[in-house]
This record gives sequence, C-alpha cells and structure tokens, in this order.
Amino acid sequence: MKASSVIKLNQTALQSNWDFLRSYFKGKQISAVVKGNAYGHGITTYVPMAEACGVNHFSVFNAGEAYEVYKVASPDSTIMIMGSLDNDDIEWAIQNNIEFYVFTMERLATAIHTAEKLDKKAIIHIEIETGMYRTGFEHEEIPELIAHLKNNSEKLVFKGLCMHFAGAESIANYVRIKKQKIIFKKALKTFKEAGILPEIVHTCCSAAAVRLPDMHYDMLRIGIMQYGFWSGPEVLIEYLNKHKAEQSPLKRIISWESSIMSLKEVPPGEYIGYGATFFSQQTMHLGIVPVGYAHGFSRSLSNTGIVLINGKRAPVVGMVNMNCIAIDVTHIPNVKPKDTVLLIGTQGEHEVSVASFGEMSNQLNYELLTRLPLDIERKRI
Ligand SMILES: *Cc1c(COP(=O)(O)O)cnc(C)c1O
Repeated sequence: MKASSVIKLNQTALQSNWDFLRSYFKGKQISAVVKGNAYGHGITTYVPMAEACGVNHFSVFNAGEAYEVYKVASPDSTIMIMGSLDNDDIEWAIQNNIEFYVFTMERLATAIHTAEKLDKKAIIHIEIETGMYRTGFEHEEIPELIAHLKNNSEKLVFKGLCMHFAGAESIANYVRIKKQKIIFKKALKTFKEAGILPEIVHTCCSAAAVRLPDMHYDMLRIGIMQYGFWSGPEVLIEYLNKHKAEQSPLKRIISWESSIMSLKEVPPGEYIGYGATFFSQQTMHLGIVPVGYAHGFSRSLSNTGIVLINGKRAPVVGMVNMNCIAIDVTHIPNVKPKDTVLLIGTQGEHEVSVASFGEMSNQLNYELLTRLPLDIERKRI
C-alpha cells in the first residue's frame, strides 16, 4: 500500500545550515534541539543526518524523545532532557549517561538517591527561574540547592546551569527579557560566591542566540534555525540589517510531497467542497490531493494555503477535509493524475521557497511542523 504523502529531508541543505551556525556562533558549543519529533522532521531520520554534519549534542523535552534519539545516535553523542521525566526514567537516564534538567528539590532528591542506588553519578543541569514561570528554581531556593550540591558531589555531576527566555524573538518582550538577564546573572554570582560552579552555562534558544550575544556563555540550544527557519520575522530582519544581507542564509531542509489523486472540472456559479466557503466565478479545474487535516495539513489553511504543482503556485480552494484538499489548477496547463504536489518545499526553477505552510506567521511554522504526523515516512535525500 502506498502512503498518500512522503516527507523528504535534504542533507546538503542541512550541512549548509550547520556550516552557517558554526561560523556565525564561532567557538560555542551547539546543542541541536530535537523535541517535538525534531520539529516534525522525524527524530530517527534527522539525528543521524545531523551527526553526519558533525553534531554531537541533542536536547529533547522528555524521556520518550530521549529514547528515540538514544536508539539512533552515536554512543559518543550527548543527550539532554530539558523537561519531563518520571522516577523510572531517571534511573534509565543515569544508567545511560543521559543528562537531565533539575528544577525541583524533589527531582534533585530522586537523582541523588537513584545515583546512590546505581553507584553511578547523575549528570544534571540546574535550571533557574528568571521570569518565564514554567520551570526553574526560585532565587530563595538557591542557598539550599547549593548545600545539596556540595553535600552530594559524589553522586552528582553539576554539568550545567541554565535558563530559558520568555519570547526573545519579539522586541515587545524587551523589558521582560532584560529582567531575566539580570536575575540569571545574579544567580550565577551566588553560585560563584559559594565556590561551586557548573562545567557549562547555557541560556540561549535560537532567537536569544541571534539577539543576545552577551548571554551566549558556553553552549547554545538551537532548535528552529537548524531546520532552516527563523524564530520570527523580527529576528530575520535584525540579522539581515546587521549583516547587510539580502536573504536568509538558512535553507529549509524539509519537503513534503503528495500527488494528484484525481481532477475535476467545475462550472461557473457552484460552491466547492463542504459548505459555502468558495464559489466558482468561472469554469475551474481542480486537482484533488489525498492529504488533509488528519495528515497534519491544518484546517486553518482552508482557502488560504498554497501548494506547488509543475513549479507553479496553486491555491487551496474550499475547506481542508480530513483526508484531502482541492487545489485550483485552472491556470496550470497539462496537470495529470499522479503529478507531484509539493505541500512544503521548493520546486522547479521558480523562486518559490516554501509552499502552503508559507510565510503566514512564523509561530505557525513551529506549530504546523511539529504537527506533521509520526506515521508519514521520512526519507533522507
Ligand atoms: C524549544 C527550546 C529551545 C529551542 O528553541 P528554538 O526557538 O527552536 O531555538 C531551547 N531551549 C529550551 C528550553 C526549549 O524548550
């Protein structure tokens, strides 16, 4: 049985992104953030591709994702869990040298006692609350935290001290971000004065890495940029202005392909698809494509999405159905069943860098990418 679509990942584009990231963030260690199934690209396909580009540090949100990385990664690569894991996962993590964030006294106690039981050190990153209000130790907790770290140095590797910014991609958050920087620097100073320092300090996601060079420290946690997207339009514009560049140096590595399932001619004066959201003004030719919201093609792309056929743009008409969409191909000659339809990607000589997932909003990029279902095949090209 043939699947109705396939996701292809381009190794050459990925190499170019990593070359750029390494030269732009010279001298800094970079962790590849591959949570959310590598932002929809597919952890098990993506991780070996990144390793082929020399990447050897991967960050995930939970233990399940860590396990996916662990299955395919080289034993020399480091895996770091930034969010959720339960007590059993902690045992597995310690046993397999998986590093993990600690942001509560409970997790710290579990890490210590599990390390003791296994007679193997837990490799931990202490997360500081600086104003994101998601996870992290409060400033008042730091003295107690330091005491625990000092008393249990036999059971813990104090690998990292870290934080996360609450929206570094937007200038609207300027004041809040500035406050976060101050709070983190104060926490770092408290550790220094107590004579206990982590091996590395890391604070920056992609947007912060571009915008806040004074917060780079030792390692950057880069997610969206490695896949060829910017965190938001402000970040891209800031980069272009600063470097007098005309276009983004990042290349999208993903393409998502389907094909024309059937064709349909519609007379003038008819509604197309469910309900009355699209009305034909003239005779129209439609291509029906077997991909719908069940496959991650969002309903929000109804009457707004664009796909590529024979190197030309074609709009989605009517509502996105569960399993298919209708595409207006009236203006494209010789469209036939089985013709390739590009839902995301570049096609032909035309400078169409991305299809329907388009430049609508970059927040949508994060969401739409990570919603690409697990069961669509990912192919390295
Ligand atoms: C998702 C995430 C990142 C990466 O964010 P990008 O904007 O994709 O670079 C970094 N750090 C943490 C803690 C995250 O949750």
